[in-house]
Amino acid sequence: MSLFVQKFGGSSVADAACMQRVAQRVYDTRMEGHDLVVVLSAMGKTTDNLIALARQVNAQPSEREMDMLLATGEQVSVAILAMALHALGAEAVSLTGPQAGIATDSAHSKAKITGIQPDRIRTQLAQGRIVIVCGFQGLTPTADIATLGRGGSDTTAVALAAALQADRCQIFTDVDGIYTADPRVVSQAGKLDEIAYDEMLELASLGAKVLQSRSVEFAKKYGVELEVLTSFDRRPGTIVKEEVREMEHIVVRGVAADKNQAKVTIQHVPDRPGVAATLFKELAAANINVDMIVQNVSEKGQTDISFTVPRDEVNRTRTTVDSLIETIGAAGAQYDVDIAKVSIVGVGMRSHSGVAFRMFDALSSDKINVEMISTSEIKISVVIRSAYADQAVNVLHAAFELDRVNEPA
Ligand code: ADP
Ligand code: ASP
Ligand code: MG
Repeated sequence: MSLFVQKFGGSSVADAACMQRVAQRVYDTRMEGHDLVVVLSAMGKTTDNLIALARQVNAQPSEREMDMLLATGEQVSVAILAMALHALGAEAVSLTGPQAGIATDSAHSKAKITGIQPDRIRTQLAQGRIVIVCGFQGLTPTADIATLGRGGSDTTAVALAAALQADRCQIFTDVDGIYTADPRVVSQAGKLDEIAYDEMLELASLGAKVLQSRSVEFAKKYGVELEVLTSFDRRPGTIVKEEVREMEHIVVRGVAADKNQAKVTIQHVPDRPGVAATLFKELAAANINVDMIVQNVSEKGQTDISFTVPRDEVNRTRTTVDSLIETIGAAGAQYDVDIAKVSIVGVGMRSHSGVAFRMFDALSSDKINVEMISTSEIKISVVIRSAYADQAVNVLHAAFELDRVNEPA
């Protein structure tokens, strides 16, 4: 018998009617003769609502208690789906992340899965049950509940598929696959039949929230082929895998925007060895994810250093940076949350030149100012004013002819 892992995101399980539709779909897969592990997200906007609830009683809630709270969302989902399946006459059992044997590190709110002991899942499968597991959560070494970061149910699904050596891992969502850009932002966006792990990894880490980037990392590492498809009807989706067909006319595979960034500029930093090391060592110690870094040309022995951080880490960044200003002898720091990072991604960039020029040219002809740039072999990212993010995504999508993605080469 083959084993399928199927994950359903928040909008797919938003209310009782959605749950019944998902139950029917899961039941049908079971009737086709497959073993089934189902991973669920919290219903609809539950996670956002729980975060808002916490903030009403405490502006900076303890991370441990926050995870205790957020993990409840997924627990509601799995129990409801189990009940809906029972109503259809199916055998099903729900498990929390810890009950399913999912171990994490102790980085509350962005924990990494460190291992899975799937014995209990296997026993339940062997008894003929559909096993429904809470996404987004696991147990720390001190037996506390930790969550995996927003969108973390994707990672639960892929990690379970790897641990159980599943035959298929399907991520059901509210769009029918992975597009050349967010279809809610670019009406011309085209659905991709397939995409390479490396490209999807970049797109996901650069803001395309259709998959959590860590889920793609796992998929690549363990060779799990993913299918991203809609839960709202029965159409094939997009396959995420190692190798994909090259298309000569497509250099860039996709465009992504990340609107959850902030830019920090430290002014008049003495231009001498050790300053950057001190700064970034302290930021790393505070567990802050620094992304793009730019150091300006030195003038009179002083320079400005700018870098980006996730917007929800800006307060912690401020605490760390402000305490260092005197030590490193800088003049001060500015914090700018009105920025967005817009990126183009494609393995075709490895073998084509002039891609950066085309990108900057397209942005400048729309009078969009580029404030920071960073590149890797398969991506170029720019920081711009956040108000222009959607416009920039559309401009770049057109400039790289991504609306032609489904035309034969
Ligand atoms: P789920 O709740 O199922 O996990 P998410 O909201 O996390 O769903 O992810 C699906 C959303 O990702 C889509 O509704 C879409 O707006 C967005 N998205 C962003 N970039 C892309 C892309 N390149 N292709 C498809 N969807 C994208
Ligand atoms: N419920 C969590 C979130 O909203 C995890 C997920 O949906 O993947 O981020
Ligand atoms: Mg998601």
